[in-house]
Amino acid sequence: MKQRWREITVVVPHIWSEVLPYFLEEMGFSGLWLDEEGEPPYRLVLRTYLREELWEPYMREQLEAHLRELYSIFRASPREGKLGMRVIDEEDWASKWLPFFQPLKIGLVWIRPSAKSVPLSAGEQEIILDPGEAFGTGHHESTQLCLESILLLRPFLEDEASVFDLGTGSGILAMFAAKAGLRNILALDTDPIAIETALRNIAINGLENFIRVSNGTLSSIRKRFRLILANLTAPLLQNLAEELRLHLETDGWLVAAGFLTGETDALLRSLNAKGLEVTHQKKKNDRVCLILKISNEA
Ligand code: SAH
Repeated sequence: MKQRWREITVVVPHIWSEVLPYFLEEMGFSGLWLDEEGEPPYRLVLRTYLREELWEPYMREQLEAHLRELYSIFRASPREGKLGMRVIDEEDWASKWLPFFQPLKIGLVWIRPSAKSVPLSAGEQEIILDPGEAFGTGHHESTQLCLESILLLRPFLEDEASVFDLGTGSGILAMFAAKAGLRNILALDTDPIAIETALRNIAINGLENFIRVSNGTLSSIRKRFRLILANLTAPLLQNLAEELRLHLETDGWLVAAGFLTGETDALLRSLNAKGLEVTHQKKKNDRVCLILKISNEA
């Protein structure tokens, strides 16, 4: 039987990009897809999904009430926002991604959907990635910043260095690390759908020997890592800061992304307070990525 999905599209002021996804996730939505539209300051297009059998009409009211609340907090006009909804089946959904997902090149690695092949030049590699319901096509700035950070840190890492992709989504960061020659990678996610997708993508790319995939939370992992990749959100990074430090090897690096320029100072203060100091900072549009180490005093 085909799986039916409730798809929700909201177009809202960009500044809501951190609060709204969190709210939708709490309601049970998954497979978050973010984009921008219009002129600067761009409006945020957010699309997310729920299995249709879990959808209840009261959820629409709850969502509309939350949007009204945000309009009032941010003093925005309700005319600035749009809420759209439709029911689709899984097959349409998979193909729907393709028009949005053009091949993308980071370093010498092409990231492309299975339906769009790219001729590879000498030295180039490819990752075949069908994100399905999981987050991570490489088109989001935060993901790109993480991919670039892997390239930046790669010369300092032995092939066998332990790498941890916390919140792997489609598996994109773990697979990119493997393509960069890293051989000892753990990919973790709390979302079983992400796990399913990551496993499928890792198998398609023949990277099973280098990436172990696990479903669970950070606290279920009892190991330290040379490199941790955490493309999450500011509140999550803040809450996990202490645990993240405890999971780093003494000389390890933490790549933290998934937040906006405006959130960076407060997050940095929390990370500093938990014994992490920034060694490098990268930015793309209004997205920031931090590379951190354990501070000397910690
Ligand atoms: N790493 C991918 C996907 C990032 S999206 C990329 O860079 O594009 C964030 C992912 O983190 C989602 O798949 C979400 O399910 C997962 N996630 C959210 N909270 C988490 C937590 N506390 N522990 C582990 N994974 C989490």
